[in-house]
Amino acid sequence: MADIFDKIIAGEIPAYKVYEDDDLLAFLDISQVTPGHTLLVPKKHVDDIFAYDDETAQKVLLKLPSLARAIRASDPTITGINISSNNGPSAGQTVIHSHWHLIPRRDDDGLNAALAPTIDNSDSYTEDQYEDLAQKIQQELG
Ligand code: 5GP
Repeated sequence: MADIFDKIIAGEIPAYKVYEDDDLLAFLDISQVTPGHTLLVPKKHVDDIFAYDDETAQKVLLKLPSLARAIRASDPTITGINISSNNGPSAGQTVIHSHWHLIPRRDDDGLNAALAPTIDNSDSYTEDQYEDLAQKIQQELG
């Protein structure tokens, strides 16, 4: 059965995309733990870290540094980034389609990174705000 990220990849439900190629998609996480919070996913359905073939793993992991740099460059207040992936429900994975969280950090933002997966700020974001964040990261990816 298709999960929510399969539907985003297929264009069946919308997302604020920041990067796309034949194998990968990066888009804003709806919850925006911090502004610019982005998810990187393989288009090929992979449940979790345990299920990757080497080729897909290489493609996804190779993209993380340039995506992290683009996110940082999109906003001068971003001074760091947490990159994480929850694997298996016992580890907090709620969408069973492998994904990598890139969570921008700002000096003294007060975020407890261990609690980040439980934070949902989507109520305080407008479509224009999501669009603006996504465009700024896209521009930095060229
Ligand atoms: P997990 O808890 O599995 O590590 O992360 C799943 C993430 O997917 C959560 O941070 C959640 O906010 C995000 N998410 C769930 N549904 C959607 C959606 O429909 N669109 C987007 N952009 N993100 C989603």
